[in-house]
Amino acid sequence: MKTLQAAISGEVFVPGEAGYDQARQAWNLAMDQRPAVVVVADSAADVAEAVRYARTHRMRIAPQGTGHAARPLEPLDGAMLLRTSRMRGVRIDPATRTARAEAGALWQDVTVPAARHGLAALAGSSPSVGVAGYTLGGGLGWLARRYGLAANSVTAAELVTPDGDLVRADAGHEPDLFWAVRGGGGSVGVVTALEMQLYPVGELYAGDLFFPIQRTAEVLDAWRAWTGTVPDEVTSIGRIMRFPPLPAVPEPMRGRAFAMVEAAYLGDAGTGAELIQPLRRLGPDLDTFAMIPAPALQQLHMDPDQPVPAQGDGALLADFPAAAIDALIAVAGPDADTPLASIEVRHLGGALARPAPDGGAQANIDAKYAMFAAGFTPTPELAATVRGHAQAVKDALAAWQAGYDYYNFEETPAAASAVLPPASYHRLQKIKASYDPDQAIISAHPVRLLT
Ligand SMILES: Cc1cc2nc3c(=O)[nH]c(=O)nc-3n(C[C@H](O)[C@H](O)[C@H](O)COP(=O)(O)OP(=O)(O)OC[C@H]3O[C@@H](n4cnc5c(N)ncnc54)[C@H](O)[C@@H]3O)c2cc1C
Repeated sequence: MKTLQAAISGEVFVPGEAGYDQARQAWNLAMDQRPAVVVVADSAADVAEAVRYARTHRMRIAPQGTGHAARPLEPLDGAMLLRTSRMRGVRIDPATRTARAEAGALWQDVTVPAARHGLAALAGSSPSVGVAGYTLGGGLGWLARRYGLAANSVTAAELVTPDGDLVRADAGHEPDLFWAVRGGGGSVGVVTALEMQLYPVGELYAGDLFFPIQRTAEVLDAWRAWTGTVPDEVTSIGRIMRFPPLPAVPEPMRGRAFAMVEAAYLGDAGTGAELIQPLRRLGPDLDTFAMIPAPALQQLHMDPDQPVPAQGDGALLADFPAAAIDALIAVAGPDADTPLASIEVRHLGGALARPAPDGGAQANIDAKYAMFAAGFTPTPELAATVRGHAQAVKDALAAWQAGYDYYNFEETPAAASAVLPPASYHRLQKIKASYDPDQAIISAHPVRLLT
């Protein structure tokens, strides 16, 4: 490892060495990653050196930014964990309405400077999720029904191939790699930077409605009916939320349980208020709707702002009719004994349903809703319990499940075939075979080679 350390400006850690434990720690504190070596890269040149070193020494390579999605990864024994977490440089170009984000950038690194130019990126619900992992796996955010998946707004990717070459993939170069990274996950190389389209969004009308959890059936029924009436400018979530009794949780929610609707409307307050009125009329306990700046969208979902131990699982739903709501309530509603902190159902459709012109591996999503259920897991016993309950939610909704799951919400180990449309998976297998025949790159959802 000394030769690698001498060749890069970043850092190299092996087991037993000071710094190894910190360097291998994922954002998801429930995960205990034990790679043979951790490389914390400072630059694309470091990434290329690390990849070449790993290949020479027959090590597999797991690229990772934050470790939000460490849970589905296969064990890293004998592998190199290649962390991009220090590579957080972001450049906003207001003239072309694009951003270039290095592979370790978090969404807050993009949304805040973009907003200074009246621009918004297709970020997800959490400011601390990594731009790279989120976008490679699709990227479902608050503007999704209007502008689609983040992956299809990528205009270029810079990546180090499994051969150790730094290449640029865009509309004119490396068409297979460009297609694969836009929704197919990070299995064809180590991304060092992404360029993406930004959108002229200053403020939006957005917020949450909190109802007592006892009203879940009424609230979810009303929300589901409402999703059939709203324009693409509205993206929303129906949710059951049980807040832990922790000091970090704001007082009105601490230790309480709610049925919720969260929504963002790309437009003015007057029209937004009219749109939300059918749900507001139900009389929520708490109503936070207001005009907010685009970066504040990332507070709407109240994701944990610090690393936590957690487990979750998700599914795409072809539909979410009244019978599905009943099935969900039976396992996670007001009377259910469940350790799940959150069960959310996101409204898809709109731009997500229409294949993006020249789109990538997830050109669209052929499902009307996406479900994600998760709980905190401070102990291994609780981890097993939470996993079981998340699976029970998935099982309860099995009759409405689409043909495949959503890449980013699949937190249990699963091959990429389970989280991509079949035609995309088959094309990805061919690209993987051509660029990574030795399966050197470990990704959240592996692409198995054709035999
Ligand atoms: C609190 C929370 C909120 C979330 N909200 C949303 C949401 O609103 N919408 C949504 O779509 N998803 C959401 N997700 C899911 C999230 O998008 C995935 O977990 C995503 O993989 C995280 O990306 P990351 O870079 O932070 O994580 P990491 O664990 O660092 O990366 C995940 C995977 O991406 C790949 N990868 C990462 N960096 C690279 C790279 N440089 N080169 C090649 N491959 C790479 C690897 O396969 C890696 O295993 C959320 C997750 C959490 C925990």
